[in-house]
Amino acid sequence: MKILNFRARIYSRTGITLDWDLLVEDTDLVPLMTIVDRAGSPSGPFDVIGSLDLAKQGHYVDEISDILGVRGLETDTKPLIADLRLYYRLRTVLRADPGTTVHVSEISISEGDLDLLAAEVLRQNRIRLEGLNGRPSLEGIKVTVYKQRFQGSRCADCFDPHRDAIVASNCESCMGTGFEIGYYNSIAAYANLSPNPRAIKLAQFGELEENESVMFFLNFPVLRPRDIIVEPSERHWRVVDINRTERKRVVLHQMVRLYELKRPSVEYNLLHVDSPGPRR
Ligand SMILES: [Zn+2]
Repeated sequence: MKILNFRARIYSRTGITLDWDLLVEDTDLVPLMTIVDRAGSPSGPFDVIGSLDLAKQGHYVDEISDILGVRGLETDTKPLIADLRLYYRLRTVLRADPGTTVHVSEISISEGDLDLLAAEVLRQNRIRLEGLNGRPSLEGIKVTVYKQRFQGSRCADCFDPHRDAIVASNCESCMGTGFEIGYYNSIAAYANLSPNPRAIKLAQFGELEENESVMFFLNFPVLRPRDIIVEPSERHWRVVDINRTERKRVVLHQMVRLYELKRPSVEYNLLHVDSPGPRR
């Protein structure tokens, strides 16, 4: 196995998200564990800050308030991590014998320059979508995001290794993805399901089809085409296109074009197979 395109991105005044692509080849992921290392310099020394399961997680969130030892971060307006450069790597080891290293990713430097303006935009967006001090928001609702896997062991029920193709459509085992585990564990996110028409126009998606819609998301999780969004009413949507607004390489928000998956699409099984795994 191999971890490719490993990226650390600043996404808030105190948080950094890590994401990557996974090339599995013939590796069995079950006996493996991936350790998240962080350092203040590319040459180390690295501290272990957590661990994750590559079979279930396609991202990791590092809330760095712990190393700064500062309280009251949410009321402070100074972007604490603007000048702080952190270095990350993912070290995959045997679960039964953590001394045996299977793979070490490239080192990624935290990317982005979160200035005062960006920090304020992020804060305002969050209040608009998530509410403030227990007061519910008028614009945002909590949705469930399923990020699709593009790598892994092939699904035995629908994938034909000889033809290197998916030979049965709407497979219920893998939800039509062709991989044994079709989607990563769910992620909760806030979205505005009906952003104002002016904002939609700015996203330049062109004419929407009848079964399409546009949603506004904060900067987490960073969405990709084919990810699935489930509303509390259980309406299911598939991401088609994303227009991200960035400032100095920090993603501020995302306008997302989606089309609705109607019952009985296999993706409706996602809600029932979802097992909450270790997540931060
Ligand atoms: Zn399948």
